[in-house]
Amino acid sequence: MNSYFTVGPSQLYPTVRKHIHSALTHNIPSISHRSEDFQQLFFQSTHHLKKLLSIPAEYSVFFTSSGTEAMERILQNCVDKTSVHFVNGAFSDRFFQTAQELRKNPIKIEAEYGKGFDAVQYTIPDTELICVTQNETSTGVAIPPEDIYTIADEHPNSLISVDIVSSAPYVDLNYHKLDCVFFSVQKGFGLPAGLGVMIVSPRALEKSKYLENKGQVTGTYHSFSQLEKYAKENQTPETPNVLAIYLFSKVLDDMLKISIGTIRESTDDKAERLYTFFKHNQDFTLLVKDGHYQSKTTIVIGVNKGSKNIIEYLKCLNIHVSSGYKDLKNTHIRIANFPTHSAKQIELLLHSLELATAK
Ligand SMILES: *Cc1c(COP(=O)(O)O)cnc(C)c1O
Repeated sequence: MNSYFTVGPSQLYPTVRKHIHSALTHNIPSISHRSEDFQQLFFQSTHHLKKLLSIPAEYSVFFTSSGTEAMERILQNCVDKTSVHFVNGAFSDRFFQTAQELRKNPIKIEAEYGKGFDAVQYTIPDTELICVTQNETSTGVAIPPEDIYTIADEHPNSLISVDIVSSAPYVDLNYHKLDCVFFSVQKGFGLPAGLGVMIVSPRALEKSKYLENKGQVTGTYHSFSQLEKYAKENQTPETPNVLAIYLFSKVLDDMLKISIGTIRESTDDKAERLYTFFKHNQDFTLLVKDGHYQSKTTIVIGVNKGSKNIIEYLKCLNIHVSSGYKDLKNTHIRIANFPTHSAKQIELLLHSLELATAK
């Protein structure tokens, strides 16, 4: 058995194999996306997501093809003139660059990779949209939700977008304070890639209608208004990844049965075990040193002798971890701590790391 501690795609959630079989048994890949069967699937997945994450009833849930697509859609539908981006790694920078490509005149508030924003002197100018990457997968920096609410409270006229691609479903958010929250399913939900999810507030929908009335292009088939029109009928504008939506609804059921509280607690426990190990092992250095910002779901570790050998050694044991991102490729490893990873597997990983460094 291979263990994938990679940060995405990652190890499948334990029940996914069974659900793929049942999808085939029930001919899910052949059902029409305009059928009642599909409408039921759409309804179940969106409602179970709302239940799992305590998303307010009046918020919309839309499907995209990826997290990256969600970034583009949010900018197209919420921004006329300018957006502000908190950038401290590769994914928050991707969001910023997307805004540049769409000519939204974005402004960047930048922190060093691996750091949070408390050491940065900044003021947020008047803006339509403030974008925060809650869990920066490239560096393992997580912004505590309270810090995001503070920004939201100080800027009541701005919409707030939050990237939780690599912290969902662990991260516990007060959605009332947020407008566009998005993730994709190949990370914390342990599903195959190919499905993104956007959670959108009524305020953001209104903004997108306002822009359309002004004559702005908010996208075509995946504009908020098209997505909303079809979502009201429990459908999607295009033929979606029906199999992925089915698997998503099944894993949501499984997680509801375990309860989100239990999932969050065990994520905390496993994270504590990981951080304690790396803090006390002289072969490793944590990239994020400030406990306030250490991600519980994606942990980035400097390997003092270089990461290449250790990644190869683990691979021989059928254990897969991610290398560091870009410039950190040869010096760091990244380890995912998602709901699919059991405490037992984490122990095995740490034991293998001990063997690897003892050589
Ligand atoms: C992986 C990731 C993305 C991109 O998601 P895709 O589904 O690959 O497009 C965006 N933001 C963060 C924080 C990520 O980890």
